[in-house]
Amino acid sequence: MSNIKLASRVTSIRVSPSTAAAQKVRDLQAEGRKILNLTVGEPDFDTPEPIKAAAIRAMEAGETKYTPVNGTVELRKAIQHDFKTRLNIDCELNEICVGGGAKQVLFVALMATVEEGDEVIVPTPYWVSYPDMVIANGGTPVILPCGEDVGFKLTPAALEAAITPRTKWVILNSPSNPTGAAYTEAELRALGEVLVKHPHVLVMCDEIYDRIWYADFAPCSILGVVPALKSQALVVNGVSKSYAMTGWRIGYAAGPLDLINVINKLQSQMSSCPSSISQAAAAFALTADQSDVVKTVEVYRQRRDRAHQLINAIDGLSCTLHDGAFYLYPSCAGLIGKKKPDGKVLETDLDVSLYLLEEAGVASVHGGAYGLEPYFRISTATSMKIIEEACAAIAEACSKLQ
Ligand code: PMP
Repeated sequence: MSNIKLASRVTSIRVSPSTAAAQKVRDLQAEGRKILNLTVGEPDFDTPEPIKAAAIRAMEAGETKYTPVNGTVELRKAIQHDFKTRLNIDCELNEICVGGGAKQVLFVALMATVEEGDEVIVPTPYWVSYPDMVIANGGTPVILPCGEDVGFKLTPAALEAAITPRTKWVILNSPSNPTGAAYTEAELRALGEVLVKHPHVLVMCDEIYDRIWYADFAPCSILGVVPALKSQALVVNGVSKSYAMTGWRIGYAAGPLDLINVINKLQSQMSSCPSSISQAAAAFALTADQSDVVKTVEVYRQRRDRAHQLINAIDGLSCTLHDGAFYLYPSCAGLIGKKKPDGKVLETDLDVSLYLLEEAGVASVHGGAYGLEPYFRISTATSMKIIEEACAAIAEACSKLQ
């Protein structure tokens, strides 16, 4: 141990629990155990060949230098067009910024705006990074439980009740990681009506999964539904999940000019710009024929349907059918209080998740990591074979409980 004195803002943040779970899987595999890994938060597909070819073309054309801090004009035009045509969002090119993944854009947006003690409303269950990002920037996450009874979604009444003079942001993640729940246009309109009454509250819309979509209504964004939120909404998206480009690190956002400018100012001091080659590939991905996306979403849909059916057939588990993303968030309330073969009682969803790992060799992430218990998250970004084997192993492990 060195005697470096760390800044207090980093000592209170956690390593991402899903990263920690994935590490545990690697450790067990290194010991020779066969683990069916349902913790993965990234597509199991490779980046489509035409996107890789676009990156190679960019390199060969010499696009290997710094780009403008806020991203290339080519990519921002592609984002502008996508936001307009798919989501009815109007924005100028200088109201768009591009960063090294949606995660970085979210973090820098908080860094740009949150003062010590400002509150950020985090509907729960939440993507694991939100509270820690808020804490790392000196803010206070306001954890707002949104249970299964409300479809794991924030209601206008809950939002209204949570807003205080210190509220800086509310985070809306649709479709959600970990539940897959997605907001309808009517739901967004109702939330928007609350937000326009509180102009000091900004809304951070994390729509990174909005192309991995199964609902019978089209994806929508609160800014497209309530354009009056123009000075309050930051719409964040990226290419990681939709185009299987997690390693390329491109995320972006559209928002009020003064906010975008300060995000760019910070980026100019942090990284100068995201990778030029990845930007060329992302611009291609957004503007090219979308049939690869359509095909992968169909595969995700079949996996979702199968996993949903198999999980619901297991005594003690129940799971809603979600609208997007590639996760299921089954309730394990029916297992809590049951005895394992070794006589120990399952008291929390962490106990359940560890039991499934030890007994069934199935890795999942416990609901506590997402702030709402007793649940666990499984990812369907893996083959149908692994999903079926894992569900069979979970069923067998559950049948041994008393
Ligand atoms: N938001 C959510 C809800 C996510 O699940 C993830 C990835 N796990 C991100 C943002 C970050 O995506 P990116 O790869 O663009 O940083």
